[in-house]
Amino acid sequence: MAFPSHAKYLIIGAGVHGLSTAYHLAALLRARGLGSGADILVLDKSGIAAGASGIACGVIRNNYFQPAMRELMAECVAVWESDPKAFSYHPVGYMQISPEAMHRDVAEIAGQQKAIGYESIFVEGAGDCARYMRGLFDDWQARGITSVLHEKKGGYANNGASMYGLAGKAEAEGVRILSGVKVVGFKFASRSGAITAVETDRGDIACDRVIVAVGPWINQIWSLLELPKRIDILGRDGALHRDIPMWTYWCLEEGTLGVDPKLGLTNDGRMPPVIHVDTDAPLFSDVDGSLITDKLWGIYYKPDFNFAGIQGGAMPYKVPTEPDAVAVDPYGPESPEFITDDEFAHMWCSALAFCQKRYSGRIGQWKQEPSGGLGCFTPDSFPVVDVFCENCHVIADSNHGYKMIAIGKLVAEELLGGRSALLEPFRFSRFAAGRLHPVSNSPFPWS
Ligand SMILES: Cc1cc2nc3c(=O)[nH]c(=O)nc-3n(C[C@H](O)[C@H](O)[C@H](O)COP(=O)(O)OP(=O)(O)OC[C@H]3O[C@@H](n4cnc5c(N)ncnc54)[C@H](O)[C@@H]3O)c2cc1C
Repeated sequence: MAFPSHAKYLIIGAGVHGLSTAYHLAALLRARGLGSGADILVLDKSGIAAGASGIACGVIRNNYFQPAMRELMAECVAVWESDPKAFSYHPVGYMQISPEAMHRDVAEIAGQQKAIGYESIFVEGAGDCARYMRGLFDDWQARGITSVLHEKKGGYANNGASMYGLAGKAEAEGVRILSGVKVVGFKFASRSGAITAVETDRGDIACDRVIVAVGPWINQIWSLLELPKRIDILGRDGALHRDIPMWTYWCLEEGTLGVDPKLGLTNDGRMPPVIHVDTDAPLFSDVDGSLITDKLWGIYYKPDFNFAGIQGGAMPYKVPTEPDAVAVDPYGPESPEFITDDEFAHMWCSALAFCQKRYSGRIGQWKQEPSGGLGCFTPDSFPVVDVFCENCHVIADSNHGYKMIAIGKLVAEELLGGRSALLEPFRFSRFAAGRLHPVSNSPFPWS
């Protein structure tokens, strides 16, 4: 097939947002008699699932302190549920297990889940929480827990498989996905500032609409779009905070304990919900008993046959380097810099043992393989989904996003003239207008 010279809809990035937009847009065009998948071109400098979507732990949950995030997540879970087979989706549920410092936040989440009809069970008090958890795992021993929110929906999906499932659905609608084509610039109309063509390392492609879905590479594309690298933000305190960097990199730390995943099953032999524990109880080494931390900490984990073990992660750390100087490539496990180390393995395996006795003494089974990767965060750590340069939708999920498969569906509707109420709280203008999302007491930057 010849290299294309024009595309009506040109999508940059074959991760969850690019592929979801492609698939949903193609289906909508067909359903409304406005065109077909043949109007859509997806470009990726590497290939399908080459970015964060291909290495994500794959957790899908509703548990967010911010009402706008919860409403959007409910929509996302519905998309995952629409075709579990193609999306390699495992609806095992999700548990947020928290200390007293987070009790009120989580109680609010539970109340609002009820209000939007998102099924969950909320357990309060140390004794009842321990009893509830031992009903699932008889070796449960985590301390400092006073609330458990058990979401009955959500769970996890297999990262690469789900992206190939999504790509397959897009291609079945006639979408063309071109791998190995890197976007290196844009051509703008002199009057309107709209994008007229995308410059690639294989030539220019004229286009009517552009959708940017480049995950951790957003800082580079943002520069090519000539958008502001530093912005002013009206804070919740009423003060104008000037010259705040638009993008900041964080490194996500994840890994796998290479035991039989069946070791993680519940008392009745079932796949358990994804477990997320935050606590302020001190964490001691499972190796030598030394103190690892006495500050609020958190981990998440799940038995995963795809990863062949108990897989999960902990809080990410902020990369102090100025964003333009961060080496995003080579990405993920290929990176010499942004992968997990022995210190993380020690912390995470000790934390697993803190939660469940069955994991004690097993650090020797930690999989010594590169894992983890970079995420690119907005100033308030929540997604920005908006139109820039007249005809360019940018989907920048601030690393919340594997689970956010519905954003592409909502963007597809906007491309055909709609305006999504669910996306409204995620517009870029919120920073200048001070419409910021509430902040929780979680130790994670994206809760
Ligand atoms: C280790 C890790 C674990 C995570 N776990 C979870 C989780 O459990 N649940 C969850 O919801 N989220 C998770 N996330 C976050 C989630 O993976 C990301 O937010 C999401 O996958 C981003 O999707 P995307 O489509 O925006 O980008 P990506 O999946 O990163 O795809 C972007 C694509 O753009 C391409 N690209 C970049 N620049 C160019 C260019 N110039 N020209 C052409 N193509 C280009 C890349 O090659 C890439 O394929 C995790 C992230 C990491 C790093």
